[in-house]
Amino acid sequence: MPIDFDTIVALAKNRGFVFQSSEIYGGLRSAYDYGPLGTALLRNVKDQWWRSMVRMRDDIVGIDSAVIQSPQVWVASGHVASFTDPLVECRECHNRFRLDKLEDPTQCPSCGKRNSFTEPKHFNLMFETNMGPIEAEENKVYLRPETAQGIFINFENVRRTSRLKLPFGIAQIGKSFRNEITPGQFVFRTREFEQMEMEFFCRPEEADQWFEYWLGAREAWYGDLGMKPENLRLRAHDAEELSHYSAATSDVEYFFPWGWDELEGIANRTDFDLKAHTEMSGKDLRYFDAEANARFFPYVIEPAAGATRTTFAFLIDAFHEEEVRGEARTVLKLDARLAPIKAAVLPLSKKPELIEVSMRLADELRPHWDVEHDVTQSIGRRYRRQDEIGTPFAVTVDFDSLEDQAVTIRDRDTMEQDRVSTSKVVDYLRERLG
Ligand code: ATP
Repeated sequence: MPIDFDTIVALAKNRGFVFQSSEIYGGLRSAYDYGPLGTALLRNVKDQWWRSMVRMRDDIVGIDSAVIQSPQVWVASGHVASFTDPLVECRECHNRFRLDKLEDPTQCPSCGKRNSFTEPKHFNLMFETNMGPIEAEENKVYLRPETAQGIFINFENVRRTSRLKLPFGIAQIGKSFRNEITPGQFVFRTREFEQMEMEFFCRPEEADQWFEYWLGAREAWYGDLGMKPENLRLRAHDAEELSHYSAATSDVEYFFPWGWDELEGIANRTDFDLKAHTEMSGKDLRYFDAEANARFFPYVIEPAAGATRTTFAFLIDAFHEEEVRGEARTVLKLDARLAPIKAAVLPLSKKPELIEVSMRLADELRPHWDVEHDVTQSIGRRYRRQDEIGTPFAVTVDFDSLEDQAVTIRDRDTMEQDRVSTSKVVDYLRERLG
């Protein structure tokens, strides 16, 4: 069944994943706030990325660089000169569009007028602000449009202090800002977003091999976290599509409700960035190979993913509507590692003797997992809510629990129920959640 975009957006808003930003002031277009469940889901996505890219490897380390950097960084990287999109304006309705994203570049998608566009202007996507109290050209700074440059400018600092030898990587997760001409499709394209980027430095002659390695590793990451293989593909950029710094790029694409679109770009950035920063700063960023007694610029393979965009894709991919005994059921079949809440503890009724047991049990589970203790509404409705937010297990305390010191644990996907001794709930969940 094709997934309806509006239904997912409604679920995201109604269940507290994502809210329109500044809603009480009428909303700020294309800006979003993450609610309690969205924050947890986004954090779990970032944690899984960090785990696979940094924690599980001895050749990659992490950093956290500043959002505002020297403006020279963006001159050296090429962003000041060429981080632009071709902007056209409709002379009839004055709406503005990105020329390269228009389905028909001769017709305005807003008012339908033909041949009404102005000549394309190159619009720089970087947000500008002033550092310090004086608004002046020399105080102009930018909000970073990518996290990658923060890694390149720290290349030597990290190499020296971590004593890593080629090949090695530096990873970073953080916010980036782009003044997108046409943001949209909910959190898919926003002006403030989060990226997960890793720069993998290697010998130039090994770059092709590492490029292939990272294509495979990154596609596998999404699949391992439960994204359906039929919704994932790799697509190589053709020559005109390549960025100024890239020798080869492939995107990991996801089949969104509007078609295939980018989740992550994997690029062979060659030695472009380290060279450019060496020229601009006068600091030699070449790598010294002690064995060969030679200095050279490493090549860089960059897997650059969007944390917020990927979170949205996981949400879409997990969304299921099914019929159970004649009733519609909505369930988020999120991998347990991503689910915001791992287990819900539900007393069958609000009777104090049941609540006493269920609260005690929830307290026992909390040090291990994110747990929700929910006492409101009928048990059927509470199950439905937990299904909709993707909670893998619901633990129900009923009247028999007072006699047999056991509870019922319901599996989100199979809806099968097991009776488990209260003292064994941690073991039961640990076996299934890890
Ligand atoms: P696009 O072609 O969609 O504008 P891009 O190719 O410029 O994206 P990159 O510079 O490769 O994107 O950034 C790496 C990743 O950062 C993207 O694959 C995407 O997941 C994420 N990203 C980029 N721009 C945005 C945005 N405006 N909103 C949300 N995520 C973004």
